[in-house]
Amino acid sequence: MTSTLVHNITTLVTNDPTWETGPLGLIQNAALVIEDQTIAWVGRSQDAPPTDTAHDAHGRAVIPGFVDSHSHLVFAGDRTQEFNARMSGQAYAAGGIRTTVAATRAASDEELGDNVARYLAEALRQGTTTLETKSGYGLTVHDEARALRIAAEHTDEVTYLGAHIVAPEYADDPAGYVDLVTGEMLDACAPYARWVDVFCEKGAFDGDQARAVLTAGKAKGLMPRVHANQLTYGPGVQLAVELEAASADHCTHLTDADVDALANSRTVATLLPGAEFSTRAQWPDARRLLDAGATVALSTDCNPGSSFTSSMPFCVALAVRDMKMTPDEAIWSATAGGAAALRRTDIGRLAPGARADLAFLDAPSHVHLAYRPGVPLVSEVWRAGRRA
Ligand SMILES: [Zn+2]
Repeated sequence: MTSTLVHNITTLVTNDPTWETGPLGLIQNAALVIEDQTIAWVGRSQDAPPTDTAHDAHGRAVIPGFVDSHSHLVFAGDRTQEFNARMSGQAYAAGGIRTTVAATRAASDEELGDNVARYLAEALRQGTTTLETKSGYGLTVHDEARALRIAAEHTDEVTYLGAHIVAPEYADDPAGYVDLVTGEMLDACAPYARWVDVFCEKGAFDGDQARAVLTAGKAKGLMPRVHANQLTYGPGVQLAVELEAASADHCTHLTDADVDALANSRTVATLLPGAEFSTRAQWPDARRLLDAGATVALSTDCNPGSSFTSSMPFCVALAVRDMKMTPDEAIWSATAGGAAALRRTDIGRLAPGARADLAFLDAPSHVHLAYRPGVPLVSEVWRAGRRA
């Protein structure tokens, strides 16, 4: 096994609280040792052990690779016109998803796979080393299973979202669609997925329908996560907490009871500022959640309709500027927070035993991700101990 020393790191974000420098576990003038795919040692440069090889960070900051715990990459087609119309004054509604459903069904496996690979590579260049992605643009047994099979070829974090919207063929029979999603479609999809998700929202699925979807998924061994409280107040967050979902995603419209429920649970509040940016919607109140003691994650929600960004640095900058998060909180939420939302302990931190996922920033500190918005600061990425 070859050991590699990464040294000359001006600021290292470890997310390891044993460093007693706050939640980010910051180390100045730092180094780390990688053995195979794993972090073997972390500390100050002058304390570094001998290694086989060395890699000079040239004074850059290093953070754990971003963990993007919410995206929708298995799609085809284009919604530029819808975005253009919305930016010219039209309101966002869940129904725009149907446009992508039609294009996705019509696409070949190869086209869908190429799309996933392209956006994964785009995200990787911006420092994302773990990325969850979902089905939800097929909405038939065949097309949902196909989407998940293709997703599973590219990532371990695959989510069954047959309950994205009611399939157009079931417009007059939503109960029949829920039966399909919890029955034959679930049977076909479960082998490819780790998670089950539902869009619990007016115009999509109500609380009872969402409960049926998540409960059926759990019975098949899938762990729940929920699209909750994005466009309006609703039962999504309470349902997520009650069913011990790993995360409630969006959390834009929350009552005090919703905030309390999240704060007193293991369910992570995953905020997706790209969606509010791209729909000119009200920002989620990250400050309120953090002050209440909830665990907050940041993700891109990358999808062709409501948030067509794969950039975690962009989401970090929005969270700091518009959601009142400190730069430290935003970086934590985009790394360790995302790992918590995926119930993972091997990623989102740089400590002995963790996977060696590193993003090098062309900057002396992590704060520059918010301080220099829109600038491509991620200059090098390592995933599982190898330079990507
Ligand atoms: Zn989403």
